[in-house]
Amino acid sequence: MLNIVIFGAPGSGKGTQSERIVAKYGINHISTGDVLRAEIKNNTELGKVAKGYIDQGQLLPDNLIVDMLAAKLDSFEESKGVIFDGFPRTIAQAEALKQMLAARGQSVTVMLDLDVPEEELMERLIKRGQESGRADDNEETIKKRLVVYHSQTAPLIDWYKQEGQYAHIHGSGRLEDITAEICAAIDQK
Ligand code: AMP
Repeated sequence: MLNIVIFGAPGSGKGTQSERIVAKYGINHISTGDVLRAEIKNNTELGKVAKGYIDQGQLLPDNLIVDMLAAKLDSFEESKGVIFDGFPRTIAQAEALKQMLAARGQSVTVMLDLDVPEEELMERLIKRGQESGRADDNEETIKKRLVVYHSQTAPLIDWYKQEGQYAHIHGSGRLEDITAEICAAIDQK
């Protein structure tokens, strides 16, 4: 069972690289951001709550995200494993994931930290906003998301180092080279 956490600041390429990993390893993909955007589109109760946080560049409360993730995890049958994209984003979420997997006799195989210089993140996100029209990819909200990343999410780097699951990935350069570095890190585990 391959349980991969793909980690990195907004704009670090988690979604793009997840697609490539899914294609190669045949595992399931959970992007909490994508799930929330679908909830917003379908105008559900969760979607209404989520919109307020997402538009402000803030994280949703841990309990909401953890419940949503558990439901999604239980929906997979005969899974070879999962790539977690955009989750965990806080230490509390990482602890919840650890417990959730332990309850299933599993653990995180590797945490891939896509490391991209801050100026490049900003450029990529502004470009993505122009191309995809994602509401939170505007300069003001991007800045807030980066602050949230540094204060609430980046501490997970040390947390996963302590768990012995951390792998650093050079997240800028050619897509193929980044994918190759990721696959090497996965195959080493
Ligand atoms: P993403 O597509 O992963 O960049 O997520 C977009 C937005 O969804 C974030 O800025 C948060 O508002 C919310 N979100 C996604 N994943 C999480 C999470 N694990 N915990 C809290 N909020 C989240």
